[in-house]
Amino acid sequence: MTRVVLATRNAHKVEELRGILAVTCDELGLEIVGLDDYPEAPDVVEDGITFEQNATLKAASAAAITGLPALADDSGLAVDVLGGSPGIFSARWSGGGGDRANLELLLAQLGDVRDEHRAAAFVCAASLVLPDGRAATELGRFPGRVAREARGTGGFGYDPIFLPTDQPSGRDRTLAQFTADEKNDVSHRARAFRALVPHLKEYLSS
Ligand code: IMP
Repeated sequence: MTRVVLATRNAHKVEELRGILAVTCDELGLEIVGLDDYPEAPDVVEDGITFEQNATLKAASAAAITGLPALADDSGLAVDVLGGSPGIFSARWSGGGGDRANLELLLAQLGDVRDEHRAAAFVCAASLVLPDGRAATELGRFPGRVAREARGTGGFGYDPIFLPTDQPSGRDRTLAQFTADEKNDVSHRARAFRALVPHLKEYLSS
């Protein structure tokens, strides 16, 4: 088995990625672990100005500290009419008020914006960095639009106000009304990490 570390202390994210990459892990004999096994790993200052830069910063730090191939992701919501914001500032858009305050602020900012101009996408950059310096980054986009009000109790972050373009059951559901499996199948994270698979195969099969 080849250990690959995901640069997170969130056990839920590790489980989610194991699901997304299950087939690849079987094929290549990979075991994905989180940073919980590495208490010495520092918190990375995410001072990049793009999703790709922040994902690479986190993966490079994890590879350096663990000596393992490392994966990391960075994601957020990009609203067209706001020029791609909140973008990399998604987690702290309201200045630290948390998920609910972030989405309430965004709804207020878009108050007068008509439905046809509310296009947005969840975006995720997924990075792979090897201890020898080889690296690859891929972007995943999950298109939709911003709803007029919050609906649903699932997910987190901006899910209650995000209406995915592709609706599995044909109804106009927010992402917070998708099941976890429905979301994980098509999410920006799944798309970004699946796009990384050819790089994992190139670097880690031998
Ligand atoms: P992270 O890079 O995955 O930690 O995401 C940064 C921020 O982007 C989160 O705190 C959320 O505000 C937002 N975000 C990222 N992914 C999602 C998602 O799948 N649903 C809702 N919000 C998300």
